[in-house]
Amino acid sequence: MIQQTTPPAPASVQTAAYQQCINPTCAATFGVDETHFACPRCADLIDVVYNWDRLPVPDRLAQFQTRWADRHEPLNFSGVWRFRDLLPFAPPESIVTIGEGQTLLQPADKVAQYVGLNQGRLWLQYEGMNPSGSFKDNGMTAAFTHARMVSAHRVACASTGNTSAALAVYCSATDLGFRAIIFIGSGKIAYGKLAQALDHGALTIQIVGDFDDAMQRVRQVADRLGIYLMNSVNPFRLEGQKTIIFRILEALRWEVPDWIVVPGGNLGNSSAFGKAFIELKYLGLIDRVPRLAVINASGARTLDELVGHRKLAWLDGLPEMSTVDSYYTHLDADGIKASTIASAIEINRPVNLKKCLRALHFCGGVVQMVSDQEIMDAKARVGAGGLGGEPASAASVAGAKRLREAGVIAPSDRVVCILTGHQLKDPTATVAYHSGDQDLFDSVLGSRGVKRAGFANRPVVVANDLDDIIRTIALYSEASAPA
Ligand SMILES: *Cc1c(COP(=O)(O)O)cnc(C)c1O
Ligand SMILES: [Zn+2]
Repeated sequence: MIQQTTPPAPASVQTAAYQQCINPTCAATFGVDETHFACPRCADLIDVVYNWDRLPVPDRLAQFQTRWADRHEPLNFSGVWRFRDLLPFAPPESIVTIGEGQTLLQPADKVAQYVGLNQGRLWLQYEGMNPSGSFKDNGMTAAFTHARMVSAHRVACASTGNTSAALAVYCSATDLGFRAIIFIGSGKIAYGKLAQALDHGALTIQIVGDFDDAMQRVRQVADRLGIYLMNSVNPFRLEGQKTIIFRILEALRWEVPDWIVVPGGNLGNSSAFGKAFIELKYLGLIDRVPRLAVINASGARTLDELVGHRKLAWLDGLPEMSTVDSYYTHLDADGIKASTIASAIEINRPVNLKKCLRALHFCGGVVQMVSDQEIMDAKARVGAGGLGGEPASAASVAGAKRLREAGVIAPSDRVVCILTGHQLKDPTATVAYHSGDQDLFDSVLGSRGVKRAGFANRPVVVANDLDDIIRTIALYSEASAPA
């Protein structure tokens, strides 16, 4: 369904970028001035595709660095649009940016030790530094740019929290008349994220149900009311999320690492990463691709089950979808709902599944599952190593550790784990782990199968007495620093 159309974009843009259904037996094409959240012919996912021959692409990635010198210019300041030649679907005057993508790649030797990697071999890409505190801003800036190109004003998403936070921030930080409408499941949103949606003025609709229910409803509502959908079924979002990879390569001085490890929820990020590498390789801007590891939580392990156990594969765009259908039928029949402390990946029906299969195929990818215990322990180690993350972020580190132990990742491999969201998004999980409050631990973590807080940094309770305080400091300051 075409929801909105505007006067055609300039000929150069219109012919050089278009949209295409990823199903090779359909392969329908559409202009970038159209809005689809599924192929109108076959309901499959849609890609943004470029005629690279007609586009000016730098012949070396290092040329992007030079834009730093010119960063008073907003498009050069943005960590997304600095790479605009690699996502060239929008005329520059349509671009909506709030300075996203000022993120960092930090060498993480303490965490490397925990993961079992040699010193100097692990980096954490901290996407929590984005304006709304998660990697979602990389995608939001691109999708808002497209929404502006098609003159959309009401924008909506279903969210476990971070997409809605990003949506609310982009609506409130820009003066372009966008109105944010957010669908969340009941009781399934971390307070840091809900706080953002409310503070930034989004119309927040709480549905009695979980994320998968909210996702289904927002698609129906977007369809019925012609509202622009900001979930990662929106192919323009994934264009923006490709730039996480570009920034990682930039920070590694354009050297490709051996592994990129990312948590998998709706599988937008892993899909975008795969597309980034496919395009960089095609353009001759890199000579090899890294391997991709996508990490599921054990309570939301659809990808792990389908790829790892039921052998679902890309097969040139024609994966065996009956395998997927029968798994979903089993979930429904047995009343299985996604359940993990890593709320950002608490998703059982990942909308970008097919695109993720493509990424796994192209990048020699693997899927790994980790328990909530492993996630919370890894999160504590990441925190002690200097960077914070919400539980879902730490899944990447927990997954890298598992893959290292299984010998899939070698100790000498160069590994980048994505920390997808900020530490303060979900303070409840962190305090439940560290504080020693048994009731809080039981209700927040124990209910998810977490048994121990092995790396807890407990607060010490002392009487309001100077001598007591001094004695306590003497007692604890030698022994208590976590190793
Ligand atoms: C959205 C989100 C994820 C999941 O990413 P997908 O692209 O949906 O797989 C993981 N971590 C955080 C913090 C998120 O906000
Ligand atoms: Zn199609």
